[in-house]
Amino acid sequence: HPPFDVLAVRRDFPILTERVNGRPLIWLDNAATTQKPHAVIDRLVEFYSHENSNIHRAAHELAARATDAYEHARRTVARFLGAGGAEEIVFVRGTTEAINLVANAWGNGHVRAGDEIVISHLEHHANIVPWQLLAERTGAVIKVIPVDESGQILLEEYAALLSERTRLVSVTQVSNALGTVVPVKQVIELGHRAGARVLIDAAQSAPHMPTNVTALDADFLAFSGHKLFGPTGIGVLYGKREALEEMAPWEGGGNMIVDVTLERSVFQPPPGRFEAGTGNIADAVGLAAAIEYVERIGLPGIAAYEHTLVEHATEGLRRIPGLRLIGTAPEKAGIVSFVLDGHQPAEVGTELNRHGIAVRAGHHCAQPILRRFGLEATVRPSFAFYNTHDEVDALIAAVRQLSAGGRRS
Ligand code: PMP
Repeated sequence: HPPFDVLAVRRDFPILTERVNGRPLIWLDNAATTQKPHAVIDRLVEFYSHENSNIHRAAHELAARATDAYEHARRTVARFLGAGGAEEIVFVRGTTEAINLVANAWGNGHVRAGDEIVISHLEHHANIVPWQLLAERTGAVIKVIPVDESGQILLEEYAALLSERTRLVSVTQVSNALGTVVPVKQVIELGHRAGARVLIDAAQSAPHMPTNVTALDADFLAFSGHKLFGPTGIGVLYGKREALEEMAPWEGGGNMIVDVTLERSVFQPPPGRFEAGTGNIADAVGLAAAIEYVERIGLPGIAAYEHTLVEHATEGLRRIPGLRLIGTAPEKAGIVSFVLDGHQPAEVGTELNRHGIAVRAGHHCAQPILRRFGLEATVRPSFAFYNTHDEVDALIAAVRQLSAGGRRS
C-alpha cells in the first residue's frame, strides 16, 4: 500500500479527469513532462494577480513582493537539494540550459586542448551535445563510460577512463530511455579522486527520489521544473559555491552586473552573475509551489510506490509474447522501455492512444543508448505517484491485445 492516498492525490491534478478517445486519460508520459497540481496552477494565478513585477526590491511594493517570492523560491530549491545555501542555486530554463551554462561558463575557463570530459553511454542528447560543442571549441576529448547488457554503467571501465587529463565528468542519475539508476555517489567519488569536477543530470531522478547534493558531494546538479510537477521554462543549476565562484559569466546583460561603464563591467557574485536579463520569475515561484507540494507527499514514499508500479509493469509486460524489455538493471526508477515484435514503436504508441493511454514512442533524445541495443526507437511508459496499478493493468492489457493481433476494443 502506498504511504499516501493515491486517489486523493489524483484529485489534486485537474488534467487527470480528461478523456481521450472516449476513455479516461492514462498519463504514462511522465518522463517527458509531468502534470501540474492545483497548488502550482493556483500559485501562478496568485502571483500574476497580486505580486507581478520585475525584481528590483527598492522600487515599490509589488517589486518587493515579487523579489520576496523569487528569493523564497531559491531558498526552497536550496533546501530541497540539501545545498549549502541559496547562492548555490541558479535559475535557468531547464536541464538543457543548466548543462550548456556549465559547458560554457565553466568549460571555456577550465578545458583546454587534450583535456578530457567523461560522459556515459546512457546520456540524453542534452548531456552529449554541449560537450561536443565544447570539445570543438577547445580541442578537448570526450570519453564514454560503457554500459552492460542490463543498461547499467560499468564502474571498472569508468575508473580506467579517468586520468590526470579528466577535467569534468557529467552523467545522468536516471536514464530517461531505460530508467537505469546510476550509482552517482561512486561516480562522483572516483571523479574527485582523479581531480575532476562532476555534474549530475538529475532531470529524471529529482522527481522520483530524494536528492542531497551535500551528501553526494556533487559539484553541479541540474533538473527541470516541468518534470517535477512545476511549470515549463524553469529549471535549476546547483553549483558548489567554489565551483560557481571560479566561473565567468556566459551571458551578459541586466541583473548580472554591479557596475557597467562603456569600457568594462563588474559582475555580481553567483548566482546573479549567471542570471542575465529578466528571469522567469513567475515560474520559479510556481516551481517552489511544486516542490512544497511534493515534499508534503514525501519523496521516500513516492520512490517506494513508483517502484511497485515499475515492478508491476515489468512483470506484466515481460509475459507478453514477442515483447522485449530494454534495460533490465535491478535498480530502476519510474521508466519501462520495450519493443514489440512485428509492431513499430510508433504504431504501439498510436494504438495505446486509442485506449486513452499516453506513452512516448521514439528515440527519447537518447539515440546512442538505443543504438547500443540495436534500436532506433522504443515504447516508453513512465510513471508518477498519481498513476495507479489499474492504469498499469490497462497498459498491459492494451499491449497484450495488440501483440495477439487485435486492433480495436
Ligand atoms: N536530461 C535528461 C535525463 C532528460 O530526461 C531530459 C528531458 N527529457 C533532459 C536532460 C532535458 O531536459 P529539458 O528538455 O527539460 O531541458
